[in-house]
Amino acid sequence: MVVLVSGGAGYIGAHAVRALQSAGHTPIILDNFSTGHREFTAGFVCVEADVGDTQAVTAAVKKYGVEAAMHFASFINVSDSVHDPRSYYDNNVASGIRFISALSAAGVKKFILSSTCAVYGVLQDIRPLTENDAINPINPYASCKRMLEVVLTDYAAAYGFSSVLFRYFNASGAQADQGIGEWHEPETHLIPNILRAAMSKGKAPLKIFGNDYPTGRTDGTAVRDYIHVSDLARAHVAGMDYLREREGCFTFNLGTGNGASVLEVLQSAEKALGLRIDYEMHPRRAGDAPFLVADSSLAHKELGWRAQQSDLESIVKSAAVWEEKLATLRNRH
Ligand code: UDP
Repeated sequence: MVVLVSGGAGYIGAHAVRALQSAGHTPIILDNFSTGHREFTAGFVCVEADVGDTQAVTAAVKKYGVEAAMHFASFINVSDSVHDPRSYYDNNVASGIRFISALSAAGVKKFILSSTCAVYGVLQDIRPLTENDAINPINPYASCKRMLEVVLTDYAAAYGFSSVLFRYFNASGAQADQGIGEWHEPETHLIPNILRAAMSKGKAPLKIFGNDYPTGRTDGTAVRDYIHVSDLARAHVAGMDYLREREGCFTFNLGTGNGASVLEVLQSAEKALGLRIDYEMHPRRAGDAPFLVADSSLAHKELGWRAQQSDLESIVKSAAVWEEKLATLRNRH
């Protein structure tokens, strides 16, 4: 299939583009390069435009014969979304709806949304989340994703515009051999920040945000489910195949089912890299949930998908190879 990939020059989108191509599909990247990287698009067809640009999206669908779309383009910083919700609702919701509507009007009927486990918010009990758990977004970033989920549910029922909503847990790792990995400016994510703390050799210790979370674990740091970005990319190909055979709106969690606290991730990184990494404790970060771990059995049952490359040490090792490459790339900028 010819698949339009918004945000294909970003972290997860770039991995999905390569997974699509390896599976025999034709990805067309749509990116406005506000945060994406031209380096990630080399060798692929790329349309430089905003997802909210209806004319550009319609023209791309016609020109390339687009049959399906994946939507990765969005602002992703939870803390920024708390302090500046307007730009999040404008960019992630208003432009996102324009994108979906333009595709629908142009006759595209298959769509995959990059959503988030943050739509679940704070659970009263400590256990993996299923797709049937209550929805309660606790920050504007998560509310934006939830709003697009609702729009897509209604579009499926009214227009036969079918979609898969993937609620990712913590995307991590990289395909450094393909020249792609996590590259955010500024970087806020845990694993790259651990690696940078390691590279600083004690000069810039890792800041850990909060050690008083109720997680059922003694260290009190927040628990997350880290999933390798290659596993996520593979799920998108499976999601596309799933939509070939059925109509509707389908939601799947994508995670490993294994939670790790911030301190446990740090310890895995120390083991993987064979060195000590300094850290310091700070107060909680705005908008963070204590415990987010996936029950992904539905994705396994329906898509035949499960995480295969997501043990923490492999994730950290792949991210470390990428961080070294990235240090060179960032020096060139
Ligand atoms: N975190 C941290 N220090 C950092 C970055 C993240 O302690 O430099 C914590 C953060 O508070 C959260 C967890 O690590 O509890 C994962 O954060 P990340 O930003 O990687 O992903 P999120 O779960 O927010 O999407």
